[in-house]
Amino acid sequence: MLRVSAGTAHVLGLKKSRVDALPTTAYLMTDGKCLRDCGFCPQSRSSTARVDLLSRVTWPGFAEETACAALRGNAMKRICLQVVGTPDWQEQVGSFMEKLQGPDRNPHDSNNYRESGRRFPPVCIACHPRNLSEVREIFDLGAERLGIALDAATPRLYSLVKGGNWQRIYSLLVEAAREFPGRISTHLIVGLGETEAEMVEVMNRFIREGVTIGLFAFTPVKGTALEGHPRPSLGTYRRIQAARWLLLQGADPGKFTFDGRGRLTGFGLAPEELRGNLAGGAAFQTSGCPDCNRPFYNESPGGVIYNYPRPLTDAEAARALEELGLDGGSDE
Ligand code: SF4
Repeated sequence: MLRVSAGTAHVLGLKKSRVDALPTTAYLMTDGKCLRDCGFCPQSRSSTARVDLLSRVTWPGFAEETACAALRGNAMKRICLQVVGTPDWQEQVGSFMEKLQGPDRNPHDSNNYRESGRRFPPVCIACHPRNLSEVREIFDLGAERLGIALDAATPRLYSLVKGGNWQRIYSLLVEAAREFPGRISTHLIVGLGETEAEMVEVMNRFIREGVTIGLFAFTPVKGTALEGHPRPSLGTYRRIQAARWLLLQGADPGKFTFDGRGRLTGFGLAPEELRGNLAGGAAFQTSGCPDCNRPFYNESPGGVIYNYPRPLTDAEAARALEELGLDGGSDE
């Protein structure tokens, strides 16, 4: 069985529901309980949350063949398979890629995703390979991109919230990005307890290494270990979004300024330069792999929007600048 996000199932015509923003990527999830125990995740070993949840999105299950048939020839721009850490995760990924490729499949061509006649969108596999050879195996199956979630900005938070070795995952991401340039992504969750300075530091390292960053706002889910942990403030989230965007444009992180608690107080840019860089609002749209918009992963319809799943209106972009909390949007 394959789980399909409610918004994706709606677009693919598998299950109609009320959808406030349409996904541009098809979000899928493998089935089964995870062996790992991340404190924020409904799929984790000790979570008592509904198994059809990831973040705050519901994921109804469908037969693999049904989902793959719907994915071939549809208008989605990307497919993202979120792989739960079950003992058989590699078999599940292999089986999915084989069924998706169907008659297009050329098992001897590791660049399957580039075939001009391909009838399905490029695939991103978000999983937890243990080493480079498992990374290569995923690409050999025909994936275009690979996501390895680091989630926590620091080694201390990683061991606290996820258990395990931050440095090992960080190093694997860097090695993978060097071998597969432009094809590696990670996720970082804002609000697990890091300072803004710590988040800027890790983002800068990833950007320099060519690892694409998908930013998430921590979202408490009932039944998980962190169900009582607060969401990040909108000001913090906007400053981290702006920092990621500016670093990508070549800003010098050495010029960023912070207060005594590690809160961003400026980006080292003249006010008009800062406004010019952020005016269009693109910094505040969902970040990550190309065409990944994750509607309402972190927000309730009608509530605070952390990641805009579409271009911002002029009014929204102006408000996001104010939400930065840098003296009315200026950087003095
Ligand atoms: S950034 Fe989007 S497409 Fe890429 S791994 Fe994350 S959720 Fe999937």
